[in-house]
Amino acid sequence: MRLSQYFMPILRDDPKEAEIVSHRLMLRTGMVRQESAGIYSWLPLGFRVLKKIEQIVRQEQNRAGAIEVLMPTIQSADLWRKSGRYDDYGKEMLRITDRHDRDMLYGPTNEEMITDMFRAGAQSYKDLPRNLYHIQWKFRDEVRPRFGVMRGREFLMKDAYSFDYTADGGRHSYGKMFVSYLRTYARMGLKAIPMQAETGPIGGDLSHEFLILADTGESEVHFDRDFYDMDWSEFTIDYDDPQAVSAIVNDYTSKYAATDDMHVEADFHARVPQDRRLSGRGIEVGHIFFFGDKYSQPLDCFVQTAEGGNVPILSGSYGIGVSRLAGAVIEASHDEAGIIWPEAVAPFDIGLINLKAGDSATDAACDKLYGELSSAGLEVLYDDKDDRAGGKFARMDLIGLPWQIIIGPRSLKDGNAEVKNRKTGERENVALSGIVSRFAKQG
Ligand code: ATP
Ligand code: MG
Repeated sequence: MRLSQYFMPILRDDPKEAEIVSHRLMLRTGMVRQESAGIYSWLPLGFRVLKKIEQIVRQEQNRAGAIEVLMPTIQSADLWRKSGRYDDYGKEMLRITDRHDRDMLYGPTNEEMITDMFRAGAQSYKDLPRNLYHIQWKFRDEVRPRFGVMRGREFLMKDAYSFDYTADGGRHSYGKMFVSYLRTYARMGLKAIPMQAETGPIGGDLSHEFLILADTGESEVHFDRDFYDMDWSEFTIDYDDPQAVSAIVNDYTSKYAATDDMHVEADFHARVPQDRRLSGRGIEVGHIFFFGDKYSQPLDCFVQTAEGGNVPILSGSYGIGVSRLAGAVIEASHDEAGIIWPEAVAPFDIGLINLKAGDSATDAACDKLYGELSSAGLEVLYDDKDDRAGGKFARMDLIGLPWQIIIGPRSLKDGNAEVKNRKTGERENVALSGIVSRFAKQG
């Protein structure tokens, strides 16, 4: 993408309304624009990040055996009356009346709808287990939308729902999501610590929240320092092997980690030696529940057993805050100059800076390299604008692409470009002829 033809409205000054760094940087780099309180447009740069996050979430859900569907944002109130949540949900639910005076709502979550969908489509125990998910916009009329996309009113969520025949099967389904969440966050360069959670209005007894540590997080968290030494890489796992799955779950849940609501100081002291006890703040980026027949009972979601009887399906639900993650990644990865994107979610792989746009030799070298890198499958933001060098450097640092390739008349004389790593700040001269092979993606 040529910057001269792109739409990336950079703000010169820090927006006053932004209280935390991710919100400030998302507004400054023109990633998002607030349309009304807690409701955002995703501009081109932000949209690319959102789609990358979404795609990682999707790949890891699929890998764990979940099947993608898409449910609507607008739901009828009928199913919510059946489950009893129409009244319980309170003011967070945006209620709408259609032209026929029917009560509708903008979905804050989808347990009712998916349970009804599954009820209609599954007859016997042979149709189990299944896990269905979608990635869809939700609306919750939060009292205090703030921190940009971190606590929006309209936000993008991945929500998966498991359907099982036996409690053991349900635990396996829960474990698969647990492990897939670890992998999902690791791919984005995040350590999201699974913490024991309250089950809240959804109910049930098995629940974990995944939190990344950040001073600006809304939750107070207490955890064992050992988490720092754990394997957060994308380990491989055989999801079909219940023992392998539960071994990983046990490994992560055997260490103390709790949000303030669930924290018991005496347990913390009993289980963790003093030099390993840490407290801080965290951002919730995912939440998983197993709630058994809480929805299948009222919504009549039963299957036939082998003996010909009827039993309610056992379910769990599993959410990831896709749009919140865009902000959370920035909270975890930035410096004074701007964002530092992990490669997996960066809006572009490389920023190519033409230091002397208008100079025919420099233009020709940059254009050629831009074409070659693009043909090699790399996503390049090509700064071909004729601004001053200082402004170009600052802008490229601000938007935080992992790599910068800088070309001007001086480096060109030796047939070189300067390659800068945004994260480490390291710069080196690389022969122009060797650049494409250096960056070309393997496989
Ligand atoms: P929170 O405690 O932050 O209000 P929640 O517990 O109500 O979140 P869940 O119902 O567990 O949220 O939703 C699943 C995920 O969706 C959360 O872990 C979070 O990452 C994301 N999420 C929830 N509410 C919002 C919001 N208002 N804006 C952006 N993301 C959100
Ligand atoms: Mg939650």
